Amino acid sequence: MSKEVKKEKISIIVPCYNEEEMIPIFYKEVNKLTKTLNNLDFEVIFIDDGSKDKTLESVKKIAKEDKRIRYISFSRNFGKEAGMYAGLEKSTGDYVAIMDVDLQDPPEMIVEMYDTLKKEDYDSVALYSPEHKGYSFIRKTFTNMFYKLIEKISSTEQIPGARDFRLMKRKMVDAILSLKEYNRYSKGIFSFVGFKTKWIKYEAPERTAGTTKWNFWKLFKYALEGILAFSTTPLVISAFLGVIFCLIAFIFLIVIIVKTIVWGDPVGGWPSLACIIIFTSGTQLLFLGIIGMYLSKTYLEVKERPIYIVRETEEDIKKDN
Ligand code: UDP
Ligand code: MG
Repeated sequence: MSKEVKKEKISIIVPCYNEEEMIPIFYKEVNKLTKTLNNLDFEVIFIDDGSKDKTLESVKKIAKEDKRIRYISFSRNFGKEAGMYAGLEKSTGDYVAIMDVDLQDPPEMIVEMYDTLKKEDYDSVALYSPEHKGYSFIRKTFTNMFYKLIEKISSTEQIPGARDFRLMKRKMVDAILSLKEYNRYSKGIFSFVGFKTKWIKYEAPERTAGTTKWNFWKLFKYALEGILAFSTTPLVISAFLGVIFCLIAFIFLIVIIVKTIVWGDPVGGWPSLACIIIFTSGTQLLFLGIIGMYLSKTYLEVKERPIYIVRETEEDIKKDN
């Protein structure tokens, strides 16, 4: 009896938020890819992250015609991080890819990535584009500053310009899923779980259609998320500065006592005193804020809220028929 060789399967996870124009274009590109790699099985999991446009309808239309298309639709917008996590949970492939729907992560690169995982001793292939072409000057400057900062204060390796686009082996996916934290910063989680990753540099093209979902404030909060999740250095700095201020205060005290005893100088100068009080109370508030931010993250983790809530999946289409 000849045993049929089971084909290997690649799962492609695609988080989408208000991307109705992009779904058909992306689907076309994926079809080209699956034709090239016709010795493999595929499943494409679209995550509709609570889109307000016709993204879900668009996905459902192709899911009805193509069995390889699966989807999860969230009950509201939970963010790209939640989308990636949901996709990883649902994926069944031996290899899993995460990519944006806007074709800034070209699907055809999966051929090279798969080849690398087959031939070389790596567990994942990831892409980075450090030049940030197409970003505004301000976004580019702050992005570079963020990577410089997080590289210094976090012990987890952070690659400047790392994208979320990568292909991983199953064992790495399972490791990522074992980290069930609510405040997810995937770029950090990927490197926290370890494994061998090959980094390929490429130039991310501009979005094919639609607009970016990030504004300055969202990016700022995302950067903060990364720092709070993967570094406790801000707490160490605040404790360290606390000690320095105590020392300075102690030296001042000695100086004032000696001055009074030796020269009998009256203690004068309220302006300097006012400055010192404002300065120290300012730093106290700042560091109280930093502690508060860590505490608020802890508070959210302790609640153990679900990372995402599902409204419907492709299983529902099957039930309807
Ligand atoms: N995205 C998402 N939920 C969100 C915001 C974005 O699923 O709340 C998806 C979006 O549809 C896209 C990917 O995440 O597929 C990257 O978003 P975008 O292209 O806007 O980011 P940029 O490339 O500008 O960093
Ligand atoms: Mg994009």
